[in-house]
Amino acid sequence: MSSNVNIDWGKLGFSYIKTDLRYISVYKDGKWDEGKLVEDNMLYISEASTSLHYGQECFEGLKAYRTKEGKIQLFRPDENAKRMQQSCRRVLMPEIPVEKFIDACIQVAKANEAYVPPHGTGATLYLRPFMIGVGDNVGVKPASEYIFRVFCTPVGPYFKGGMAPVNFTISEYDRAAPYGTGAAKVGGNYAGSLYPHELAAGKGYADCVYLDPATHTKIEEVGAANFFGITKDNKFVTPKSPSILPSITKYSLMHIAKAYLGLEVEERDIYVDKLDELKEAGACGTAAVITPIGGIEYKGNLHVFHSETEVGPVTKKLYDTLYGIQFGDVKAPEGWIVEVK
Ligand SMILES: *Cc1c(COP(=O)(O)O)cnc(C)c1O
Repeated sequence: MSSNVNIDWGKLGFSYIKTDLRYISVYKDGKWDEGKLVEDNMLYISEASTSLHYGQECFEGLKAYRTKEGKIQLFRPDENAKRMQQSCRRVLMPEIPVEKFIDACIQVAKANEAYVPPHGTGATLYLRPFMIGVGDNVGVKPASEYIFRVFCTPVGPYFKGGMAPVNFTISEYDRAAPYGTGAAKVGGNYAGSLYPHELAAGKGYADCVYLDPATHTKIEEVGAANFFGITKDNKFVTPKSPSILPSITKYSLMHIAKAYLGLEVEERDIYVDKLDELKEAGACGTAAVITPIGGIEYKGNLHVFHSETEVGPVTKKLYDTLYGIQFGDVKAPEGWIVEVK
């Protein structure tokens, strides 16, 4: 363990900091090897790897949290493991067993313990598991060799000066096709989102909202996060569509809305011309937990939900509860927390 980690936890952003060790396991001749921690943060792969040319790749993102007792814990890593298996199936890669995935995450968090930020800073250790097709391959077909890797990097809290709403704009581009790969966390979905994001940022918005690719009438995703709203009659609503990436944060919030806040929960269509039914709205995902949505710009009009400057009360409660669970300050539902020891 590196004892001389010298990081100003309060100044951390979301960028790569090289830590001491990362995990690697190689799939060859039809099986995964045992896997090990390595120091080298570089990968050495064939120039003909399928991941480089045809995007045969998938990834995950989760965090290790420091509790006030100083312990380190992961939030629902089994869900990330299962989602990675779904992504693998969609792009014909061999699945990583759930236990192997969780063990790799624990090993990486443990080996880089010194980089897990202190409790109370809001900062965390971000873990990035991913899989790539490697080896000599030119044709469009699945690789015969794969690398499963997990690295980590300390990241700051998403909102430095406290949680604040931001505005979004509807994109005319799609992030996924109706029966495409939108529900899989595969690299290929993201290159195409860089340009729409750049356009939204250029107009002064935090990011863009994607509509359903078939009819462009319903909200699907907010950048690389899921969308939810609170209706005027106090329901937690979130879009249901086969081209949305199933966010673990979203499913956790659905449970919290119901079990902790007593709200009704609905996964259903949310029409962009019926935003009036919502009194609050937010984007959710591992990175930000919740980004409150001030307003959404559509065809020249900015539709404001609760407020452009203040976080709505339900959104705030959802955020505080989930954040509290993740950092060990609020009692978690059975099975949500895995201790790193
Ligand atoms: C990863 C991701 C999310 C959020 O998923 P979480 O499991 O909550 O982190 C949402 N949308 C897209 C497109 C994503 O890639």
